[in-house]
Amino acid sequence: MKLLLIVSLLIASAFMQPESTTKVIAHRGAWKNTHVPENSIAALQHAIALKCYGSEFDVHLSADSIPFVLHDHSIQGIYIEKTTAAELSKIKLSNGEPLPTLEAYLAAGKNQNQTRLILEIKTSQLGKARSLALTKKCIELVNKTGVASITDYIAFDFDVCLEVKKLAPQAHVQYLNGDKAPEALAAAGLNGFDYHYSVLQKNEGWLQDAHQRKLSTNAWTVNDEPTMRWLIERKVHMITTNEPEKLQALLAHR
Ligand code: MG
Repeated sequence: MKLLLIVSLLIASAFMQPESTTKVIAHRGAWKNTHVPENSIAALQHAIALKCYGSEFDVHLSADSIPFVLHDHSIQGIYIEKTTAAELSKIKLSNGEPLPTLEAYLAAGKNQNQTRLILEIKTSQLGKARSLALTKKCIELVNKTGVASITDYIAFDFDVCLEVKKLAPQAHVQYLNGDKAPEALAAAGLNGFDYHYSVLQKNEGWLQDAHQRKLSTNAWTVNDEPTMRWLIERKVHMITTNEPEKLQALLAHR
């Protein structure tokens, strides 16, 4: 009987596919299928409830140097970088939630270690100095809120990525812009890339090269199953998606 059990287990394991290691990042939180606004605290809470590996969000700096969470440079016709925090705090998202400050957002993501906070430092439209000032503010608030151990950073501006590593050497930093090969990222001391999937399809060797260099790999923003499968087969570490539920189901059935 015992032998039969062992033989059955051996046969079962032979047919099982190796466990996929690709992890799910909710792009701007889990908002699409939950019908809440992108980058809202509600979207972050849904991503945590879904047990996503990470939840991504975007950060800009107000005119008086307070970071706010929003994707676009403006909301309801109000330009974030030229508006004070007092004015921005009056803005309501479509679910009634106030436009979140980074501090409020990080506080909402605290006290759990299920889901990493993937903080995108947006490039300022007012110049490099403002992008670097935002970088410093983000790191200060992450430390102040006590979420450094669950926060990772991403940015399109390479100088911003370097600044994060300078100010917070232990932080995990991935470059977004898609124009640097893994070798250049490793040489600069960054942790990896988070590139648009089309960049990885065009440069087929980059995933393998990055993995050999122990760099972390992430692809955005992947919402369709064929592209999800293409990336999973190439063992991408993370996929950033507006469809975390779909990606989780796909990974569970592999
Ligand atoms: Mg983003």
